[in-house]
Amino acid sequence: MTATIIVTNGRVLTMDEAAPRAEALVLRGPEIAHVGSNREALAFKSNGTRVIDAAGGTVMPGFVEGHMHLFAGAAELDHLQLFGVHGFDALKAAVAAYLRDNPGNDLIIGEQADYTILSKDEPVTRQHLDRIVPARPFIMFSPDHHTAWANTIALEQAGILKGRKLGPGNEIVMGADGLANGELREGEAIDPVRSLSQSGDRDRLGLTTGGEPEPRPTAAQFEHDLKVMKRGLDHCARHGITSIHNMDGNFYTLELLEELDKRGDLLCRVRVPFHMKNFMDLTALEKASVMAKRYHSEKLASGFVKVFVDGVLDSWTAVMVEDYADRAGWRGEPLFKPEHFAQVAVEADRRGLQIAVHAIGDGAVRIVLDGYAAARLANGTRDARHRIEHIEVVHPADIPRFKELGVIASMQPPHPPGCHGLPLEPTISRIGEARWPYAYAWNTLRAAGARLVFATDWPVSAIDPIRSVQSAMTRKVWKEGLPDHRQPLMQALASYTREGAYAEFMEARKGRLKPGMLADVAILSGDLEAADPKALHEIRPAVTICDGRVTFQG
Ligand SMILES: [Zn+2]
Repeated sequence: MTATIIVTNGRVLTMDEAAPRAEALVLRGPEIAHVGSNREALAFKSNGTRVIDAAGGTVMPGFVEGHMHLFAGAAELDHLQLFGVHGFDALKAAVAAYLRDNPGNDLIIGEQADYTILSKDEPVTRQHLDRIVPARPFIMFSPDHHTAWANTIALEQAGILKGRKLGPGNEIVMGADGLANGELREGEAIDPVRSLSQSGDRDRLGLTTGGEPEPRPTAAQFEHDLKVMKRGLDHCARHGITSIHNMDGNFYTLELLEELDKRGDLLCRVRVPFHMKNFMDLTALEKASVMAKRYHSEKLASGFVKVFVDGVLDSWTAVMVEDYADRAGWRGEPLFKPEHFAQVAVEADRRGLQIAVHAIGDGAVRIVLDGYAAARLANGTRDARHRIEHIEVVHPADIPRFKELGVIASMQPPHPPGCHGLPLEPTISRIGEARWPYAYAWNTLRAAGARLVFATDWPVSAIDPIRSVQSAMTRKVWKEGLPDHRQPLMQALASYTREGAYAEFMEARKGRLKPGMLADVAILSGDLEAADPKALHEIRPAVTICDGRVTFQG
């Protein structure tokens, strides 16, 4: 048996408890043939073998990014980046610089504008943005993408300047003058402006409507979208990622990825869900079953249903059990009524599909757990591995239910306020001190037996898994005496590898380095274990291998 690739001189973290450490790896085609010492590995060497010297760097299973939005993230690589921009003048300068490089009349899209971009107490209005961009449509998004701010011409062209009636949880915020004030909350409010973009919003369809592009994209548009997608996959590969759990989807997304696979350009394994919206009939889940049946390879698969039951804390759209600490009488409005969500859960579960639900407030988390309990009652207990995404606040009474119901907690180390350069406000005031102990409660959930999957929710946060692990390891408490949720390195890495594999029923094939497992490997420039957590981000992926093929080399 001939080795295709041998990796030597590594600090190999196999993530396999039975044999956690090694020095070298032997890959044969798409699988791992041997894990052991340099001497053992080099015995497999023959003429065609490529030898990669890891030079003392960490060698580990490729990162499994457990929650992200590939198409939208890829499209955003070209947008105006506003991370770290603060104050009117800085915003104006950033936009001006972007306009110099991007002339034209089409919609300008800004990303990562934090909720306090102007100042702590001055909300953004269309009038502010008009003073920056008067004559061209402009929209900018909060990091969580649940709020956006648009200028007057954008609101006018989108036909929403005078407001519009929207579904629950969505809002075009109106000003005292009876016109939209520029702030748009949630998809239905934002989409009319987004659809003015050059991509016609095809990159967001899987996220916003779950539907397919209409009319059918032309051949040129299809090629354009392939290029966007490939850039996104390349961006993932250069960050050491080999598997992606995409959290929005439709057939169009799958068709693009399938075509890339045929061309040998599918640089990561991807799972794509069917996105169930609250206006769909239960029969819509048939489409999810068709997607699952058509796509089930180790490279490209469907098989799960994504649902949103609430929004986010910062815009008071997350659903809480008790009132918001800074808004008496308001608990948020669920996108699915509890009975409605339970029906969806029962039907999806009956079809043998996995379910992954965005639930940020403790009230939303409870609705989802209740739905999963209803599914178990109706269909019997099975190894369903349903998931809850985000869980930014959990009610203490619900913590043990994750283990009881076998529900996976999918959480994002860069998201707690204070992590990753995020401001503490307004989020921590929305949550309120009484709930702080149950906010982003990684260790509390772990201690209660929940399985945790980590990810970044790219493009909500930068995709870099090493920075995300760093956030997990260095998180600070908001106040003395609150639970410490810092993660030891190995635990954070497990949530990025074997736990991610488990969440997609692939733990026998990936997430650990072991003979017979898929040859998905990240070779890093330094030794993660030897690094000071504060300097962890200086360690970079050096080589990424997916399916036995080098997908990135630094
Ligand atoms: Zn997401």
